[in-house]
Amino acid sequence: MADAAERLLLFGPPGSGKGTQAALLAARLGVPAISTGETFRQAVAAGSELGRRVQAILALGNLVDDATTSEIVRGRLAQADARRGFILDGYPRTLAQAETLEEILRGRGESLDAAVFLEVPEAEVVRRMSGRRDQAGRADDTPEVVRGRLRVYEEQTAPLVDYYGRRGLLRQVDGNRPVDAVAEAILAALQPAARETVRSLA
Ligand code: ADP
Repeated sequence: MADAAERLLLFGPPGSGKGTQAALLAARLGVPAISTGETFRQAVAAGSELGRRVQAILALGNLVDDATTSEIVRGRLAQADARRGFILDGYPRTLAQAETLEEILRGRGESLDAAVFLEVPEAEVVRRMSGRRDQAGRADDTPEVVRGRLRVYEEQTAPLVDYYGRRGLLRQVDGNRPVDAVAEAILAALQPAARETVRSLA
């Protein structure tokens, strides 16, 4: 176990459970979970300059621009606790961001270990987000905004499945199951044996 670094990212449609799984995985692997969505929401709540700039974008379910988002990630990854590894939740969300991430890591002499794709059918994410809205009161969980976020996901983020597939980094996990079952499936997909299987199929 000389190199126990885990440099991972989780992606999938809004409401697919990325945040929940990123936190579980972070605790399990002892590396920080880094959520761009959470960072933006905290900035809005704090009323910072960044928060004022992104507030309307978040409320409409649109994406914050790539440059702003990537700078936040670059800064966060530079902190000491991300040296040994990290779990990115909600970044990258566009091909441009994926390319920037590669560049950031290359500059550090690092590379990604895996990109975990949480697969959840659209009907289920819509159901989950309407429940979440009642509980957590996120401004972007209204039915119209959710529909918009799903469109943004399909157009901008879904192409990452191919992007990471071509690089042999994609680990597809069925996210339409109880939280614990999904967490186990992610850990299984990260085992070296699972990586070999995926590679030999490629
Ligand atoms: P979800 O995946 O449930 O939609 P997130 O917490 O990941 O929620 O993101 C919430 C919002 O934050 C997004 O709708 C978007 O406006 C903004 N955001 C988060 N990550 C990114 C990113 N990588 N690029 C651009 N905008 C982002």
